Amino acid sequence: MRQEINLVLSPKEATEEESIRNAALKALHISNEELTAIKVVRKSIDARNRRIKMNVRIEAFINEKPLQHEFNPAFKNCSNGKRIIIVGSGPAGLFAALRLIELGYKPIILERGKKIKERKRDIALLNRESIVDEDSNYAFGEGGAGTFSDGKLYTRSTKRGSVRSILDLLIFHGADATIGIDAHPHIGTNKLPRIIQQIRETILHYGGEFYFEQRVDDFIIKGKEIRGVKSQGISFEGEAVILATGHSARNIYELLHQKDILMEAKAFAMGVRIEHPQEIIDSIQYHCTIRDSYLPAASYSLVRQVEGRGVYSFCMCPGGFIVPAATSPDEIVVNGMSPSMRNSKYANSGMVVQINIEDLHEYKEYGVMAGLKYQQHLEQMTFRNGGQGQVAPAQRMEDFVRGRVSNSLPDTSYHPGIISSPLHMWLPEHIGPRLQEGFKAFDKKMRGYLTNEAVILGIESRTSSPLRIPRDKENLQHPQIHNLYPAGEGAGYAGGIISAAIDGQRIAEAIAKRAL
Ligand SMILES: Cc1cc2nc3c(=O)[nH]c(=O)nc-3n(C[C@H](O)[C@H](O)[C@H](O)COP(=O)(O)OP(=O)(O)OC[C@H]3O[C@@H](n4cnc5c(N)ncnc54)[C@H](O)[C@@H]3O)c2cc1C
Repeated sequence: MRQEINLVLSPKEATEEESIRNAALKALHISNEELTAIKVVRKSIDARNRRIKMNVRIEAFINEKPLQHEFNPAFKNCSNGKRIIIVGSGPAGLFAALRLIELGYKPIILERGKKIKERKRDIALLNRESIVDEDSNYAFGEGGAGTFSDGKLYTRSTKRGSVRSILDLLIFHGADATIGIDAHPHIGTNKLPRIIQQIRETILHYGGEFYFEQRVDDFIIKGKEIRGVKSQGISFEGEAVILATGHSARNIYELLHQKDILMEAKAFAMGVRIEHPQEIIDSIQYHCTIRDSYLPAASYSLVRQVEGRGVYSFCMCPGGFIVPAATSPDEIVVNGMSPSMRNSKYANSGMVVQINIEDLHEYKEYGVMAGLKYQQHLEQMTFRNGGQGQVAPAQRMEDFVRGRVSNSLPDTSYHPGIISSPLHMWLPEHIGPRLQEGFKAFDKKMRGYLTNEAVILGIESRTSSPLRIPRDKENLQHPQIHNLYPAGEGAGYAGGIISAAIDGQRIAEAIAKRAL
């Protein structure tokens, strides 16, 4: 017999197999011999009270052997399969490719950035010397925007596909099996690159093709049908084109716009990145002065409506680093990541304000491109308010809320450095004041959150795409261009690693369904 039960344990007990087993025996009132095996299904922290507890859900096998969870992807040799062009090797592109291989199609992946090894060098240069390579940075390159990230795998989009199948594929390619158990799983920037490289190996092994440093700059369209793409004059043709270029691919949006290919403006969000000493967040969330060594670095998730717009924390990275995520040398964009141990002394999070289409009336002349132009304008303005290169404009949190210039700044994890700047004066009207109000409200939820020991950095602007590339509900093709399949975050159909990967899989299945 199998039975799922919930156990409430201390953080230490939750890490010990014997303690979990003993607690299960007690809860089930059975003997040691009867309990054949236990399997942890889920772990989550309950930090509502002073005594922190762990909720551990287990599957208990009573007088029965556990079934092995076997995951055998049905990859087959696709060398002679029909060619499907995939633009972009982010999660949407890679998971579309893996699924296409299972379905017998041959994925041809074009990526503007470099392979992970070379990309790492460019990222080191970006951090050390503020050199922004427009094709190889935190957004562009093998594995897409998620490669050097926190690797948080939490998503709300369970309906759209199988989260489990994405986690299984990640585990199959080297991720720790605990990602299948934790309530809020994450991989860490030190481990993700190897997994992405393994995925590349699988795709190549089964007959797919990769072309790096190929920035797609034109489409091959005959009548109303796409036949392929061009990169610096070289043509790549196939039965269909999956456009999985992410939300930073401005040249692709410009190209679609020039060619009168339908896009839609959509709401997005922008704001700042905030960094606290991790100790402060731990002490607030765990009600302690020093964190129990069995507990992970604490995180938070905050949301508030201010004057009709959502103000919320985004991509919180406990024990993490703030990184320069610009894709052009004349802009500053910040984002966050953390290593698998989440052991830096800082906690950072995006703090953003929802931007609706009607907020952009000053950009009306740009039509559907208004959001993109606004985003670009703010990134350039942030650059002008910063120091040399990628040195980001920053302000202590309380100073920002009270409208004071910061005479000094705290230490930060942001490698290129920070310079004091009155963000309260130059952030746009519909962002700055809402953030000030939001911070005050968040301090009521998390006493001690509003502090001058925290610093805010400009600007967190790439939370999601300001545009949607539409597609038919039925067959997921672009409604105007036959065989063009917009996918992932850049198309406006995903937000985050898991949902982009699921979207890629769905597109592959839609292609196979049409039996192209
Ligand atoms: C620093 C950072 C941390 C993040 N942390 C997390 C996290 O912890 N959890 C999470 O869920 N999400 C996180 N994200 C967001 C996540 O990475 C994205 O949601 C996800 O990668 C989107 O996947 P995608 O495949 O749609 O697009 P992308 O990952 O953006 O991939 C698009 C790819 O297309 C390529 N490309 C663009 N234009 C062209 C062109 N013209 N020709 C050829 N190739 C092109 C790009 O180089 C890129 O590799 C983070 C992002 C960043 C930048």
